[in-house]
Amino acid sequence: MRILVQKFGGTSVATLDHMRKAQLKVVAGLQKMDKVLAVLSARSGETNRLLELAREWSPDPDPAELDLLVSTGEQISVALFTMLLKDAGIRARSFTGRQIGIRTDRVFGKARIRDIDGEIIAKALLDHDVLVVAGFQGVTDDGRITTLGRGGSDTSAVALAAVVQAELCEIFTDVEGVFTTDPNLCPQARKLERISYDEMLEMASMGAKVLEIRSVEFAKKFSVPVLVRSTFSEAPGTFVTQEDSRMEHVLVSGIAYDKDQARISLRSVPDRPGVAAAIFTPLAQANLSVDMIVQNSSHDGVTDMNFTISRKELPRAVRIMKAIQKDLGATDILYDDNVAKVSAIGVGMRNHSGVAATAFSALRQENINILMISTSEIKISCIIEDKYTELAVRTLHEAFHLAQPDVVSA
Ligand code: ADP
Ligand code: ASP
Ligand code: MG
Repeated sequence: MRILVQKFGGTSVATLDHMRKAQLKVVAGLQKMDKVLAVLSARSGETNRLLELAREWSPDPDPAELDLLVSTGEQISVALFTMLLKDAGIRARSFTGRQIGIRTDRVFGKARIRDIDGEIIAKALLDHDVLVVAGFQGVTDDGRITTLGRGGSDTSAVALAAVVQAELCEIFTDVEGVFTTDPNLCPQARKLERISYDEMLEMASMGAKVLEIRSVEFAKKFSVPVLVRSTFSEAPGTFVTQEDSRMEHVLVSGIAYDKDQARISLRSVPDRPGVAAAIFTPLAQANLSVDMIVQNSSHDGVTDMNFTISRKELPRAVRIMKAIQKDLGATDILYDDNVAKVSAIGVGMRNHSGVAATAFSALRQENINILMISTSEIKISCIIEDKYTELAVRTLHEAFHLAQPDVVSA
């Protein structure tokens, strides 16, 4: 049996008109394959609305109740969409995450999928041609509803595709594929025909929200072919697959940015073994993920420890740091949330030098000060002042000639 997974993001299900466009894609899918699993997001704006609603009721909402609340957004989408399909004579049925058997751990708000019950799906496919599944949600072993983190419907879709061994997982969104950078920020952005899992993973990790990070991890781990495309056009989209010879051989394949960044600096902590552990263990225990870490060189036995964290986690992180400040012996704790991260990504960087220098010179020419730097084999990231994000993205996009295909840059 040939199964196609199609995921529709928030804009694709926002209104009746939008849903009708998505419906056409499902009909087209059924012409190509035997069965379709349609995975839906909440209608655009709905998840944010629910999160705000919770904060009106409670300054620090109970995480389990918050998940139950925000998961309703997807439930609305699947019910409405299935009504449309059934009215069109399609044998369809809706499923919440729990009903389709998506089991997760208990990390409310950022749960990880543990397993999916293939039997439930197989059985449902006996009587139905389209299963419409609520993305972003699952259930714990003891029956609590969980959500997978923002953008998590991508992960639901890819995980389902892995379980049913789908021929393809189509991610329908509001842009025509994966671009060299966010096309809504940089008009020169160019659509890529193909991108490797590794590059996509790095792009997603660096903030390109077109695919959620864990969805790419799943796709890579289980070799799920993913096609990112638009609900609102016939454009062919971007394949996310294993690295292959058809991919462009450029040093840098994309520029990503992430405004969800905040910076904390612990001043004059003693430079001795165990200090980093004392700082980062309590953060990890609180499930806060630290991104970039820079330790200044030490002077007179003390050093500064700087790190970045998600903006919404800044107040919690600062509270934790203040609680250990005295034991650590830090003189000051400084923090700000008007920073952003811009990154250049490309597997071609592995074997070339000079990419970092090109990036730094380009930023310097625009007088953009770099506050922190981190590099890996296939990316360079800079923390800069938030207000320069757009300029920095466009500048780097131009510096690496990304508007033109197949140009060896740097
Ligand atoms: P959906 O609701 O369909 O999941 P998202 O808003 O999560 O859609 O993701 C699509 C958005 O990702 C686009 O509208 C675009 O602004 C943004 N984006 C960021 N970087 C890129 C990129 N490199 N290529 C394409 N889109 C990108
Ligand atoms: N509705 C969720 C969100 O807005 C999940 C998703 O759209 O992928 O983050
Ligand atoms: Mg998304």
